[in-house]
Amino acid sequence: MTDPRRRVPRTDVLLAHPRLAEAERVLGRALVKAAVVAAQDRARAGEIEPEQVAEQAIAALPSSATTLRPVVNATGVVVHTNLGRAPLSQAALDAVATAGRSTDVEFDLATGRRARRGRGALAALAEAVPAAGGVHVVNNNAAALLLVALVLAPGKEIVISRGELVEIGDGFRIPELLASTGARLREVGTTNRTSLRDYSAALGPDTGFVLKVHPSNFRVTGFTAEASVRELATLDAPLVVDIGSGLLAPHPVLPDEPDTATALRDGADLVTASGDKLLGGPQAGLLLGSAELVDRLRRHPAARALRVDKLTLAALEATLRGPEPPVARALVADPVELRRRADALAERIPGASVVSCRSAVGGGGAPGVELPSVAVSLPESLAEPLRTGTPSVVGRVEHGRCLLDLRTVGPDEDELLLAAVHACTS
Ligand SMILES: *Cc1c(COP(=O)(O)O)cnc(C)c1O
Repeated sequence: MTDPRRRVPRTDVLLAHPRLAEAERVLGRALVKAAVVAAQDRARAGEIEPEQVAEQAIAALPSSATTLRPVVNATGVVVHTNLGRAPLSQAALDAVATAGRSTDVEFDLATGRRARRGRGALAALAEAVPAAGGVHVVNNNAAALLLVALVLAPGKEIVISRGELVEIGDGFRIPELLASTGARLREVGTTNRTSLRDYSAALGPDTGFVLKVHPSNFRVTGFTAEASVRELATLDAPLVVDIGSGLLAPHPVLPDEPDTATALRDGADLVTASGDKLLGGPQAGLLLGSAELVDRLRRHPAARALRVDKLTLAALEATLRGPEPPVARALVADPVELRRRADALAERIPGASVVSCRSAVGGGGAPGVELPSVAVSLPESLAEPLRTGTPSVVGRVEHGRCLLDLRTVGPDEDELLLAAVHACTS
């Protein structure tokens, strides 16, 4: 009797299988070969029959060349850090696809000469915030702060309130980031109260700049005081304001969230912000303010190390010029409309109910703000199969139920959501 292991098909024979050959065109040889080798190993271990190797390899093929999996964000957290912060608009996704090929990001097609890199995105940003004399874009807000410290405070002091020594998340602390440039932090005031006088008493020949940081992920309440941007602008030192969230102008739903236009109007010399929080665009660090300062930032040698990719520039421009991105839509979603969608979904899911709930803005800003929302309520036991299904649906478990909060689910995702639930319940 022949050893069944001898009947395991050879790798080259398997790779010539029409389905696997087709997969190789989409996924590349390495991924397909890995699936083939894994299936062969299972046959040699006696887990499957040698005749099943090809079908096993086909079944185990990844659906794309990235291990990243699409997720429907039904958590109700509008800017969900672990789900990649802001989802891009379709226009931004299309722009990324365009930019991913050869493109005129740094080339003038009319003259055939080199052109300013990312001029479309920079022009869109400048137009969106007319109060800014200059604009620059770097890799993220952390990079923006790093660049500012390198330019304005080498060997000098950054004056900052003790109430604004913020840890953003995952152990990332703004004070440590700033100190890594060699600048010294000059902490003023207390955790709960800092006055203009605290700042002015600290200013001197060693001052590089005054930094005001938005406490974007916590709130201090009670006996508190802080110096406003307007007050700080009266000091004799450059004023940099890190607003965090990336709102370009005041937002009606988030009246306490700082925005770029207001900070500049109130006298900030420079504003830094993230692109992928409330602006709803790609990861980016936005720098807006005095033309002279922005010019110095752009010319610093480190600017090259912090510059953004063409994909980012494309997505940012489309976010600024194109239709409202999903984050903006989620912020203003009308609970009446959310309930209509929830009712329609629940009607088609046995055992589902519809409940009122509260969504959060999330890591992107507006700590403590809750938005009235509506969810499809399912048994808690569905949370895991939904999460691990295809597409993955991540809800939120509350009071022993799995809630699918529709505020963060795009209306165009309802059918997808329904199919995912049906796949888990049938
Ligand atoms: C989020 C945030 C940052 C960090 O921004 P990244 O774009 O993630 O680097 C810095 N400052 C504040 C106030 C923030 O909210």
